[in-house]
Amino acid sequence: MPRSALVAPGPALSAAERTRHARHLLLPGVGEEGQRRLANARVLLVGAGGLGSPAALYLAAAGVGTLTIVDDDLVDLTNLQRQILHGERDVGRRKVDSARDAVSRIAGATTVHTVDRRLDESSVLPLVADHDLVIDGADNFPTRALVSRACALLAVPHVWASVHRFDAQASVWWAGEGPCYHCVFPQQPSPDQVPSCAVGGVLGATVGAIGSVLAVEAIKLIVGLGEPLIGRLLVHDGLAQTWDTLTVRADPDCRVCGSEADPTAPLSGGTAEPVPAAYRPGEGVAPEDLAGLLEGGATLIDVREPGEREIVTIPGAIPLPLAAVLAGAPVPPGVLVVHCKSGGRSARAVATLRARGVDARNLDGGILAWVARIRPEESTY
Ligand SMILES: [Zn+2]
Repeated sequence: MPRSALVAPGPALSAAERTRHARHLLLPGVGEEGQRRLANARVLLVGAGGLGSPAALYLAAAGVGTLTIVDDDLVDLTNLQRQILHGERDVGRRKVDSARDAVSRIAGATTVHTVDRRLDESSVLPLVADHDLVIDGADNFPTRALVSRACALLAVPHVWASVHRFDAQASVWWAGEGPCYHCVFPQQPSPDQVPSCAVGGVLGATVGAIGSVLAVEAIKLIVGLGEPLIGRLLVHDGLAQTWDTLTVRADPDCRVCGSEADPTAPLSGGTAEPVPAAYRPGEGVAPEDLAGLLEGGATLIDVREPGEREIVTIPGAIPLPLAAVLAGAPVPPGVLVVHCKSGGRSARAVATLRARGVDARNLDGGILAWVARIRPEESTY
């Protein structure tokens, strides 16, 4: 039984619009009325990265009327392997600008709004409330938590996917209609438990495949077609090339959408990366001070993964993965300076080591800051 359409039809199509969307007009269940619904739709796209790229391009090509693109990042050379909204000429530009240009090239009729900042407690609710549905292509857990809670609170459909290496998952979370994201994933993994694309690697084409699924689900919801992934988790194994769906159910005790949920609780509550109590920014070591400390006898510990060390290392650093530090592995005596990619994982290591009485200090900004300020000729990731 098809669901009712999420969006009311817009005005009648012009002759040119009918021609442009002729292949949609022929589709059972879409037709001119479905195309008018797409033209009237307002979609919020969080993240103009790997997942957001195909979603944005296909939604624009499909004739979605309004697309709001949120991203606070700049296009980096390492993005181009999968983020097909951006090209080589866009490196260094704001992603929202590059994305707007790419969408405009495909569909001049699509109105693009851009938001060049990270969403926070005050901005996320009005933004979500102003759209028919949200496509979540966020690359960080705090933003994902904010978006998912805002969608649940406002009962706005939350079209979601997650990719790791060759594998992906997708679903449509929709409080009241099925589970919300937190019903199924009540505990947010910490960043060191789930490697990001930068740490674990990711196949660009797999991101493209699952990003296209996001566009399909959004179009189905807008037009009222088929069976959206509400209450189902799509699980894709890219190496085995399998696509399975698991049934997932709303949790009556969900702390976000359950009957006992506190609608006044902070949207980001408990899901952001915890800042260890024993570490405060500013107590760390600036990249400029590292060489002096090492000459004075300090030892440099690199808590990153082996694949990261193949890209760039700081001379003299001793590899000791974060998991080993957290498990209590022995460390050299004396002052330790600990580094990771950008300072998050090493802050956890420092907190653990300090709790053991070790004089450990964090390299502020990680190896990325060290490369930027000391060795700009080195590779980054
Ligand atoms: Zn829930």
